Order: sequence, then structure tokens, then C-alpha cells
Amino acid sequence: MLRPTTAQDALAWSHRGDRAALERLLLAYPAISSISAAAAIAAARASRSSLADISAIAIPREPLERDSFLLWQAAAREARASREALPLQDLLASPPSSSPAADALIREEIAPASACSAEPPQPVPTPNRPFSASALNMFVDCRRRWFYRYVCDPIDEPNAAAASYGTAFHAALESFHSEFTRPSEALRSEMQARLDTLLVEAFERARPTFDTVVEVELQRERARRTAPRYIDWLCERAAQMPFEVVGVERRVSPTIGERQFVGFIDRIDRFDGDGSLAVIDYKTGSIAESAKEYRERVRRFEDFQLPFYYWSQQLTGERVSRLALVPLKDSTIPVTPIELEVVAADAPLRDNGARGTISIADLERARDRMVALGAEIRDARIAHFDASTDPDSCGYCVYTLACRARPQPEAERFSR
Ligand code: SF4
Repeated sequence: MLRPTTAQDALAWSHRGDRAALERLLLAYPAISSISAAAAIAAARASRSSLADISAIAIPREPLERDSFLLWQAAAREARASREALPLQDLLASPPSSSPAADALIREEIAPASACSAEPPQPVPTPNRPFSASALNMFVDCRRRWFYRYVCDPIDEPNAAAASYGTAFHAALESFHSEFTRPSEALRSEMQARLDTLLVEAFERARPTFDTVVEVELQRERARRTAPRYIDWLCERAAQMPFEVVGVERRVSPTIGERQFVGFIDRIDRFDGDGSLAVIDYKTGSIAESAKEYRERVRRFEDFQLPFYYWSQQLTGERVSRLALVPLKDSTIPVTPIELEVVAADAPLRDNGARGTISIADLERARDRMVALGAEIRDARIAHFDASTDPDSCGYCVYTLACRARPQPEAERFSR
């Protein structure tokens, strides 16, 4: 998605009072740190007030930043009142001013504020919307990141090339399996040619989400090299366990333990043999290297994706017999899904590399944990959102600049 420029945002705010544009303008204001901007945005949202009007008593705390914030607010109000973007654009172009007029404005606005005592900190209300498995995964991985993402929500996560690759590949496969619901060896060449065309079209549509032309070309070619390996797997699977694709990108919103959850299942297959289902998640990033590793993540309550898909279908009366993660990241190796067969609670667990089993008891425990986490998030105001203690969690976090509690990577610790 193309981001609006600050000039476009200044126009959107001054002409239409667009609050999202105003938030972006605060984040773009170099005189205020991203953490102070995030705090101001969260305070404005929580009090349902405009950023241009909220009190600057508590945010930002640092005096120079607070002065800058007051100047920014004055410019925002002036721009809105005059329907003229220039006051904001000028301020963003030359922050912060030290003109006598600005100093007078700061003195005037700070004087009454400094007479008040600071508001005592309070637990944070959490947003009232359905839970997704990825949100719960983030919550258990790093509560601080979850707070930034789902409570503050101040930053549009940058579109990394890897994320754009995933989005385009998913879109191509959605169209592909809407056309080819019964893959087979007889259709191999036709399927291969069609998937290649759909990938080229999907990456063309996704072109604006990549930063450079080189990136889009490289990622598209990576997808095109991966596609034949995906077709190999489809043909092999269809020969071993004939199936029909009965769902693609299916939206599910089950109520589990009185909590509403929501998500999209990449693909649902129905086996001809016994009519049971397989729920499939495409993975364009890193995944567990074995079925056992993934099952242990589920058992440690670190991953709810496939358990959630499982319950979303079981609760509709279907029988889900298999859960699979399909890797689409590496074009140099065969597509070998991490696949778990669902077995009875008392059945011995089996593992054989990428294939293994998971018991219904493990899935029930994962379900109960999802409900408990939902209750914790929704029912109680959370006083503190702990940062992760694992530096690996921070690898793809977009909030690293704002996060002062970030654990240091081992190499950094060693070097000090
Ligand atoms: S930088 Fe690390 S600790 Fe901080 S929010 Fe992100 S994942 Fe959590």
C-alpha cells in the first residue's frame, strides 16, 4: 500500500479533519520521539479527543518535547481552523521553532498546565474486538509488542518484501485452487502453467507494496521457482490420498468458550477416503523444522494457529484429521509440509521428520488456553505489558526503536 505524503496528510487534516492523517503527522514530526508520539496518540484515542486538543500535561514528559508538542498542536489547530495545510507543513519542515512568538505561545500554554499534578498511571483498557490466533501468538511471545500493535496501534507496519511476497503468493494460490479443486498428475502441465500466470499477475498487482523494482522482480522469480515444487507436492498427495479442495481463504469466526475468535484458513481439503478434513496454512516465512517441534510449540502454548483452525471446523460438525503447514519460502528444496495427524488422547505419539501426530487432548488444552488468554485480555485491565526476554522475538519487530525494554542480543551483551 502506498503511504500518503506529509503534504497529503496535512491537506487531509486541514480540509476534512482526518484524525488518522493527524496521527501520522505527529509520528512524522522529528522534534518528538516515536514513543512520546505513540503515548499521545494512545491518550487521544482512549479519551476520544482530538490530538490537537488533548492536554500535554502528562505527555510528553520531557520539557523540550512537551514544548514541541504544544507548538505542533497549535499548528494543527490553526491548520484545521483556516482549512489551510501550510501551518503544519511549515512546522514539519523546520522543527522546532525558537521564535519569540513560539516562546510566548509555550509560556502561555505551559503555565496553567504546570500548576496541575500529574495524572496517576492506570491499567490500560484493551480493544473490544474478536481474537485472532496470530494476536494470541503475539501476546504469548511478547506482551509489550501486543500492546504496541493492538492497543496503541500507532504505526503502520512497514511492508517488508517478505510480507509482500507472502501476500502475493497467497493471492495466486487462492485463485489457483478456486479453479483446480481436484489436483492430479493428469493436470500437472496445465496446473503448472496456470499457477505461473497467476503468480505473475499477483506480483504485478502487488508491485506498489514493494520498495523497489528490483525487489518485486526478485521475489516474483523466487515464487515462480517455488511453484513447480508446490505442484509436485500436490500431485504426490493427490495420488496417495485423493482429496478435493473445499475451501480457500475461508473466513471463520467461531465462538469458543463464550469468546469470539476470527481468522482465515488458507485452504481446506476433504479426503475422498473418509470424508475428513485437512486444514492447511501456507507459510512464506520460517517454520518449525519437524512435526515434533511444531507439536511441542502447541503443547507449550506458543502457537495457536492450527489448533484454532481445527476447532473452527470441529465446532461446525466436521471431523478434522490433519493439520498442515506448507512451506513456500525456499525455492531450492522440495515443498515438504509439516503435517500432524490428529489421534485419540490415549494413542502413542509418532514422529517421522515432517510427519507426526498430535492428540486431541493437546488440542483441547490449546483451546482452553486460548479461552483463558482471551479472558485475561478482555476481562481485566492489564497494568503492565512485559517485554519479551528472548532477543529472537525482536528480530522482526517494528517497534524496536520505541521499545526501551528490548532484551539485548547475545552478541551485543558479549561485546560490552
Ligand atoms: S522490541 Fe522485542 S521486547 Fe520490544 S516490543 Fe518488540 S519484540 Fe517485544
